[in-house]
Amino acid sequence: MRLVTFLPAGGTTARLGAIVGDAVVDLALARGGAPATMAELLALGPQGLALARAALEEGSRAGGSAARHALAAVRLLAPLPRPGKILGVGRNYGAHAAEGGLTTQEKPRIFVKLSSTVIGTGTPIRKPSAVRKLDYETELAVVIGTAGHDIPERDALAHVAGYSILNDVSARELQFDVSPPQTSFAKSMDGFCPMGPCLATPDEFADAADIELSCSVNGAEVQRATTKDMIFPVPALIAYLSRYVTLEPGDVIATGTPAGVGAFRKPPRYLEPGDVVRMEIPGIGVLENAIV
Ligand code: ZN
Repeated sequence: MRLVTFLPAGGTTARLGAIVGDAVVDLALARGGAPATMAELLALGPQGLALARAALEEGSRAGGSAARHALAAVRLLAPLPRPGKILGVGRNYGAHAAEGGLTTQEKPRIFVKLSSTVIGTGTPIRKPSAVRKLDYETELAVVIGTAGHDIPERDALAHVAGYSILNDVSARELQFDVSPPQTSFAKSMDGFCPMGPCLATPDEFADAADIELSCSVNGAEVQRATTKDMIFPVPALIAYLSRYVTLEPGDVIATGTPAGVGAFRKPPRYLEPGDVVRMEIPGIGVLENAIV
């Protein structure tokens, strides 16, 4: 399933839906008792996904047209407009660590992003007037569906509800040019976490360990990689993080970005108002945001 949070045309209340072709099925309208929000769905665990699937089937039938909207007519919000914890991972692709002149590390490098940073596809990223070195980072976002702590690697994927695309927007001067570095603050300004367009459940991928991600700025490709090249793959990240914090439904892991970010290009390529950042992962879709 490709699950979305959306506003119907003229609507002001966010709805939970699933994409089918060029339509969105409003799950709670399709079937009574289906979750009404993504947070509600995730809180129900595997049962929430089963209810969503049943509602999607009902809404996809000929008689379910009242619950269907044209995808082009709705406004997609971030699948989880206000997630729980957002745990970020730095330097998780070898080529990206190398382009920054960094040696790889023995343990994942963790930072946090505030959940207030999240925006959806199509919503502009406002460049704070004080920021000069605004940068993009294409990432696979892992959304937790089942709570756990001390999760063994072999069980880790059972805790994943699905995947999304995440842009780990960063103000590089606060991350690199000040001492001590302020990584979490550099990545936690308003609008610094575009996420979307949907939450794709794991069955949408032939191999969830080999997901291709790419990014372009104003139509020119700047990043392309596969999650196969992660230094710490998703199960290792879940096992590591859950030794220290309880992972809860609705928490997000930003799993790190591959090579090609603006700061390490020669010359550096920082984002300015008017630029458009487009990120794509097959099976999830396109996350596109303009800078203003
Ligand atoms: Zn990142």
